[in-house]
Amino acid sequence: MKTKSIREIKKIKGKTAFLRVDFNVPISSGKIKDETKIIAALPTIRLLLRCNCPIIIGTHLGNPKSKKDKNLSTKPLAKRLEKIIGKRFCSVIVADDVCGKKVEKAAEELKPGQILFLENLRFDKGEQKNDSAFAKKLASLADFYVNEAFSVCHRKHASVCAIRKYLPSYHGLLLIEEIKNLDKIKNPAKPLVVLMGGAKINTKINIIKNLSPKASHILIGGALANNFLKAKGLKVGTSLIDKESVSYAKKLLKNKKIILPTDVVVSEKGKKNEHKIKEVSSISAKEMALDIGPETIRDFAKIIKQAKTIIWNGPLGAFEENAFKHGTLALGTLIAARSRGKTFGVIGGGETLEALKMTKMESYVDWVSTGGGAMLSYLGGEKMPGLQ
Ligand code: ADP
Ligand code: MG
Repeated sequence: MKTKSIREIKKIKGKTAFLRVDFNVPISSGKIKDETKIIAALPTIRLLLRCNCPIIIGTHLGNPKSKKDKNLSTKPLAKRLEKIIGKRFCSVIVADDVCGKKVEKAAEELKPGQILFLENLRFDKGEQKNDSAFAKKLASLADFYVNEAFSVCHRKHASVCAIRKYLPSYHGLLLIEEIKNLDKIKNPAKPLVVLMGGAKINTKINIIKNLSPKASHILIGGALANNFLKAKGLKVGTSLIDKESVSYAKKLLKNKKIILPTDVVVSEKGKKNEHKIKEVSSISAKEMALDIGPETIRDFAKIIKQAKTIIWNGPLGAFEENAFKHGTLALGTLIAARSRGKTFGVIGGGETLEALKMTKMESYVDWVSTGGGAMLSYLGGEKMPGLQ
């Protein structure tokens, strides 16, 4: 059965929805630091409220070791959601557990205009094991299921996977937009330019392989590039690399579309205030490459300006430090500006979005993906258990 959009459901009026969201927000001591993910789910929540559907909401939050991990309780999320929507429009009831008798009773008594917010789904071991019995318990709380958690769809977890065996299932509005926009990268207006940075290659190898036939250029920066430079036989000093990534990179070197930095900003350990621009062939044994250099910025920029479609994931340097943020901010700004024009631009990734925020140009970008690892998997052509 093909999963449909909730917009297509005609018969949901008054029925109870199980809504799986991704409210995995940055939080410390109960204080929410960024509510972007909560805001992103509002259109679907409001649509369900308008249809008089009582709503059960489930999300994970972090990676709790056990139920005792009170720092990862979803209570602050429930309170914040009620504040954002407004008590006049809905009341949010906090369920003290993920499932069980009390939760079942609360779900039965739930009325239109009310949301029952479950405890952290990962408090139950069944969630990450895609356990059928756990999924069945969740499903028994509602009449139909809505998936609004694209960022976990690459995982085989009960609340995105097994639960769909037991309920009629639909896609949420944000999830549909996410897929629609990412599909424009899979079938791009050409030329397609792929810009990749960040650290670990193993999460990014499939996207490089999968988009390579469609792309005109694959530009590589950040610590990711160190692995390629090393694979080419260059000396990279004390730069961040990992052995497995270097051997992956070796296999990709034949690909003529892959463009590597020609210069980098280096620094020695313990001397972060002293930094130099070096050609990639002259990094000394004590030096660490921490950003792409000005020549590379210019060369990458020329290629980016030719693109009709751009996808960017991964910072091009250790942008968290002022001295090494220039490559990331220069190209991030350029991509946002091009995206504002005729070029279709997609940007995604945890740290990449932090860097994008520093440019204050997020609103220029055609699609800012909330998918993170799921975006990489989807564009990498990997199986998405939560979407199949
Ligand atoms: P994203 O979450 O956006 O997909 P990654 O998690 O792959 O990105 O990588 C982000 C991290 O990579 C950042 O914290 C950044 O500091 C780091 N990084 C990028 N380039 C370098 C570099 N040359 N040396 C060390 N760390 C780097
Ligand atoms: Mg990251």
